Amino acid sequence: MKASVFVANNEPLVVEELTLDPPGPGEVHVKWDACGVCHSDVSIWNGTLPIPAPSILGHEGAGVVVAAGETKLGFQPGDHVIGSFVPTCGECFYCTHDQAYVCGKSLEIGMGRMPYTRPDGSRIMGAIGGLAGFAEEAVVHEAAIVKIPDHFPLEEAALLGCGVTTGVGAALFAAKVSEGSTCVVIGCGGVGQNVIQGCRIAKAANIVAVDLNPAKRKAAEHFGATHTVDPNETGLDEFVRGLTEGRGADFAFEVVGSPALQRQAYDITRPGGTVCWVGVPRIDSESTLPAALVVLENKTVVGTIYGSANVRRDFLTLIDYAEGGALDLKGLVSQEISLEDVNDAFKAMLEGDVIRSVIRY
Ligand SMILES: [Zn+2]
Ligand SMILES: [Zn+2]
Repeated sequence: MKASVFVANNEPLVVEELTLDPPGPGEVHVKWDACGVCHSDVSIWNGTLPIPAPSILGHEGAGVVVAAGETKLGFQPGDHVIGSFVPTCGECFYCTHDQAYVCGKSLEIGMGRMPYTRPDGSRIMGAIGGLAGFAEEAVVHEAAIVKIPDHFPLEEAALLGCGVTTGVGAALFAAKVSEGSTCVVIGCGGVGQNVIQGCRIAKAANIVAVDLNPAKRKAAEHFGATHTVDPNETGLDEFVRGLTEGRGADFAFEVVGSPALQRQAYDITRPGGTVCWVGVPRIDSESTLPAALVVLENKTVVGTIYGSANVRRDFLTLIDYAEGGALDLKGLVSQEISLEDVNDAFKAMLEGDVIRSVIRY
């Protein structure tokens, strides 16, 4: 079984032949059909997110169950599944209070799982939920996969595993964008384009896409942006006030992971409006807000992980949107690649050339 292994920060991933343990109790053996290459994979590879090598990245996958141990959820060979990079135990305080996206056992379940063995006998971990989407096959905890209908295309389902759910969910489930509103989306990468789709699904009147890259601004128009702004050419604050009789945005999303842009999103939001932080800054960074104005202007600042989605329900909600034509998944795929091409896909992502590269197995 082949995997593209993360061997060291900023060193090329290496395709290796590995053996995989059989599934034990509570575990499921999945053969991935497709896995998207996400910016968080790059962030681990370049050291922004601290996850140790050697390990196998990839957390935006969908595939088919090959074999299953005894599972509470009753997984069977042939089941079609999407990986959930936040495993959801279904039993903790958060999972039983409709907040599975911050499941209290997700790290314990997802981290440190080492089902892969190299020819020299050393073990390798599947990173991020233990999903190892950059391997042809994985043995995962049942809490880290969600069964979906067999008829839905797996290469589209894979995208729901991270970027689509994170972005669309930020608009629909976290910020709860309202009909007729003015929304601003700062950062139009794979997640930002999906925040835009979420705002469109919520029937926002104005969706302002902000990005330095002209190709991303163009893509944003396809996904539903009504206006685009190059922040080097146009003052965003003035532009947004011009659209809103001077008030500011009803909803502003930061989808880069920059404390300075988090603050800008706050500043361009109207009194009583909602600021939603989606991008993940460096783990040691801090953001500052005007202490008095948070109170006096009654703004809501919302952080969101995984689109605040409860994946066992909301993957199916998003599949409904896709089947109804409201959610464009095919348009997100810039290129289909093989396992050998992941290093090139990282490069293309860093250069801003692609929304999503998707590995097909
Ligand atoms: Zn991701
Ligand atoms: Zn839980």
